[in-house]
Amino acid sequence: MKVYSKITDLQEQISALKSGGKTIGFIPTMGALHQGHISLVQSAMDHCDVTVVSIFVNPTQFNNPDDLLKYPRTLEADVRLLETINCDIVFAPSVEEMYPENSLGYQVDLGKLGTLMEGKFRPGHFDGVVNVVGRLFDIVKPHKAFFGLKDFQQVAVIRYMTQFLKLPVEIIACPTQRESSGLAMSSRNMRLSEAQKTDALHIYRSLILAKKLAENHDPKETKKAVVNYFQQGNLQLEYFEIVDPNTLESLSDKWVKGSTACIVAYCDEVRLIDNMELIG
Ligand code: AMP
Repeated sequence: MKVYSKITDLQEQISALKSGGKTIGFIPTMGALHQGHISLVQSAMDHCDVTVVSIFVNPTQFNNPDDLLKYPRTLEADVRLLETINCDIVFAPSVEEMYPENSLGYQVDLGKLGTLMEGKFRPGHFDGVVNVVGRLFDIVKPHKAFFGLKDFQQVAVIRYMTQFLKLPVEIIACPTQRESSGLAMSSRNMRLSEAQKTDALHIYRSLILAKKLAENHDPKETKKAVVNYFQQGNLQLEYFEIVDPNTLESLSDKWVKGSTACIVAYCDEVRLIDNMELIG
């Protein structure tokens, strides 16, 4: 496995592989890798000849400076883990390498996609995501890129951006990986104590309840009952929405195929995100 921190070195290697006819699969990450990330790497290995993982804690997508400061950084362990599963290339640039002075940013008007849910509660977050993913796509020029459905809205944003900018990359969405308890795997879970992890299970239980209620209630009733249930636990709810999977607009009276419950809650100061498809 090769590890690069310089864009030109990485591009030289990728160009050589591409001219040898190899297809490139790409997984952007912020590191502190867990089995959720690894499932994306495995999916890339199934689809492509060469797998490239980037590890970069992108400052421009954090609207909360404390969250950026406390975000786990475990580069050495990440590299070792990727080596054990035979990943081909790791790209771990510095902030200066990614954002040299006078570098041009990618800007996409996301419309409603950028103002709902994460867009509402993390102003500027998706501008940072679009910018970094656009820049990474430009550097790596992958054939396919793999994203986790755990960040449901992010997948929609990346698909939109790719179409809007007419980027020649196929976006592949991969299912959320969970602990055996049901807790969605997340780099942020490293910041939770065992007791907090138990508290955090309330998120998963609420999603399961939503799925059950969806069998014989409309979205509005389901949301009301789930929010009520959620408030009996120890976490602080930021939002719970039941949305159309394409527009991400909240549903009220009618279910649509792919209706998805999206939730964000704080376990003390750790922000946790999860979602579940309610109607298949
Ligand atoms: P992050 O390092 O949090 O930026 O995540 C990098 C990629 O891994 C994103 O596409 C995430 O959606 C994905 N990811 C994070 N957690 C999980 C999970 N539990 N299951 C599947 N994919 C995940």
